[in-house]
Amino acid sequence: MAYRFLIVGAGFSGCVLANQLVKQLNCSIDIWDERDHIGGNSHTTRDEKTGIMVHQYGPHIFNTDKKEIWDFVNSFDEFKPYVHRVKANSKGKIYGLPVNLHTINQFFNKNFTPKEAEKFIEEQADKTIEEPKNFEEQALKFIGKDLYKAFFYGYTKKQWGCEPKELPASILKRIPVRFNYNDNYYNNFFSGIPTNGYTFIMEKMIEHPSITVTLDRKFIPGKDGKEYTHIFYTGPIDAYFQYKHGRLGYRTVTFEKGYDNGDFQGTAQMNYCDEEVPYTRITEHKHFTYWEANDKTVYFKEYSKETGENDIPYYPKRQVADKKLLKLYRDEADQQSNISFLGRLATYRYMDMHHVIGEAIELSKKVVDCVNTNQPLPVFSNVETFI
Ligand code: UDP
Repeated sequence: MAYRFLIVGAGFSGCVLANQLVKQLNCSIDIWDERDHIGGNSHTTRDEKTGIMVHQYGPHIFNTDKKEIWDFVNSFDEFKPYVHRVKANSKGKIYGLPVNLHTINQFFNKNFTPKEAEKFIEEQADKTIEEPKNFEEQALKFIGKDLYKAFFYGYTKKQWGCEPKELPASILKRIPVRFNYNDNYYNNFFSGIPTNGYTFIMEKMIEHPSITVTLDRKFIPGKDGKEYTHIFYTGPIDAYFQYKHGRLGYRTVTFEKGYDNGDFQGTAQMNYCDEEVPYTRITEHKHFTYWEANDKTVYFKEYSKETGENDIPYYPKRQVADKKLLKLYRDEADQQSNISFLGRLATYRYMDMHHVIGEAIELSKKVVDCVNTNQPLPVFSNVETFI
């Protein structure tokens, strides 16, 4: 029997899933997206005035440790080598992030060797904290009060709109601390920027006679999709249930665009760590596509705020109340049939592109197995999804 699938959302989750399913099953796939473009929040486009490739929803640097995921994305476009080196402005001085030996030496005005720096930071660390329960405790335990206050406290308050104590420790665990001069923002082995952008990659992924895409098409839960064998939903899980238990907390981001000649800030990303500066960071996109020459430049100041009803949800807050709400939605989702939930919004997790791609591939394998063995398709890709 030929399956008729509906995929709601044309971001990485939806496009990877479509790409994998259409190769392995006798199926037709419709993809709907409520925006006027595919690509989700990884969407890349050309700035109308300068022609510079911009990441419309904020900087996206592809990085992964998994060779199979690297090879997979490279099969759609050539990735140019790119190492993300973030700069941070704290009290008017510029440092390198993540915190590394240079940051430590500059900040404390020292010339420590790696071992000396490690010992010094260990002395700064709060030894009363055994198992960090939140972002602040994680920071105090691993880098001590001074570096925490200089680089993380103000930025995090602006970014998340709450005290860092109210946030999970996992948010800080995203960023390494190093006692050498390696200032690569990521620990992952593979890293790069696609020559033609992420949207180009997703276009290639879904280029198939059995896949159709409908843009500007909002999915109405309970009403839409009845004619399909199965729906794969990548939108917000609370929206799917029409917010019946309340709204999950998200931060959204707004951008203020500026133009200049030549080079505006000398690097792709400059973070502003002080609470008094209203924006969190400035991204200058021409530094991502360094192989393209351009006399002009475009940059974006990024502001963070609570997500209102008509805002795009970006960062899941995952505070205690959110997790309780999430459990209600998850339990309800588990009772559904003919629908699977996948991706950042549908599982309410802070996921990077490589996580999203990996999980969509995993889910596609499970779906193919279930189809081949006549089992019902899974509601979620794995049981760990909500931890
Ligand atoms: N963070 C910070 N200061 C910085 C950079 C990051 O306090 O200069 C904190 C902040 O809470 C942020 C988190 O670390 O949300 C994760 O940072 P990352 O750079 O991974 O955020 P993303 O690029 O996903 O917005």
